[in-house]
Amino acid sequence: MTGMARDQGSVESTDVAVHLRAVIGRPQVSEAYVHFRLDMVAAQQAVRRALATRPPDGCVTGETPRLPMNASDVAFPADLLGGLLQALRAAAIAHGRETEDLRRLTAAAAADPDVLPRLAAAAAFGPDVETLESLARRWRVYVDALLFVGRTLASPCVAEAARVCVSAAGVRFHPTEPHRCPCCGSAPSVARLRRADGLRHLTCGLCGTEWQAMRLACACCGTPDRQALGVLRLEDADARWIETCERCKGYIKTVDERKLPDGETVVPVVEEAATLHLDLLAEREGYIRRIPYALSG
Ligand SMILES: [Zn+2]
Ligand SMILES: [Zn+2]
Repeated sequence: MTGMARDQGSVESTDVAVHLRAVIGRPQVSEAYVHFRLDMVAAQQAVRRALATRPPDGCVTGETPRLPMNASDVAFPADLLGGLLQALRAAAIAHGRETEDLRRLTAAAAADPDVLPRLAAAAAFGPDVETLESLARRWRVYVDALLFVGRTLASPCVAEAARVCVSAAGVRFHPTEPHRCPCCGSAPSVARLRRADGLRHLTCGLCGTEWQAMRLACACCGTPDRQALGVLRLEDADARWIETCERCKGYIKTVDERKLPDGETVVPVVEEAATLHLDLLAEREGYIRRIPYALSG
């Protein structure tokens, strides 16, 4: 599995919570958003623990799949997804983030819980826009809301399936699209330049897998066209900035570990929660994130 590294994805959930709590009080950090993420770390980790206890390999549907996986490889148990959706709504209410869409979606799913696996699969893989649009019409909610909720529900299932696949003997990774997660094919959420050697590593925003990627290529569409690639930063000395692409108008947040204090670790959900101001900067300049961040632990 060329270029893959699991050192990032192995941060334990309790450590993730400790790292998340540590950013509360920093300038430009929304305390309510961090608390929302803390609740989601706990809820998604509970689903992973439940999946891990469902033998044999309850998170994959059949034989150990070829990578990257597709929607039919991952088990999405309706009972666990239903519980996670309740937890998501409770966290949103508790931290001032509930929307009309979330209320409608929760009510619709309560009436028809078997539809949640279909939502999770459609949001996680592809995404399957046709299925998402049909559910959005049926439930009278925005597709973007479905994409966020569906990926949040799917994330622990895909992460657990990825863990099983990577630890299985004989797994082969055939990199066809270096800007896609080698385990689940999803888009990366954050890039880090590794402290040891400056190599660029991307982290999947769905399953948490980390892989080595070309330094000068768009993390969203993969173009190596240097004319299309740009950088947005608030201060020249900052360890964090945005890398942009004129071809797809996508962007990715980047952290240079070599500029961080010794011992400071890059934890993707913490980067997500602590740098919303960088997302605002990118959006103000006309760049968009098409795939929402879903992974909490
Ligand atoms: Zn992935
Ligand atoms: Zn691009």
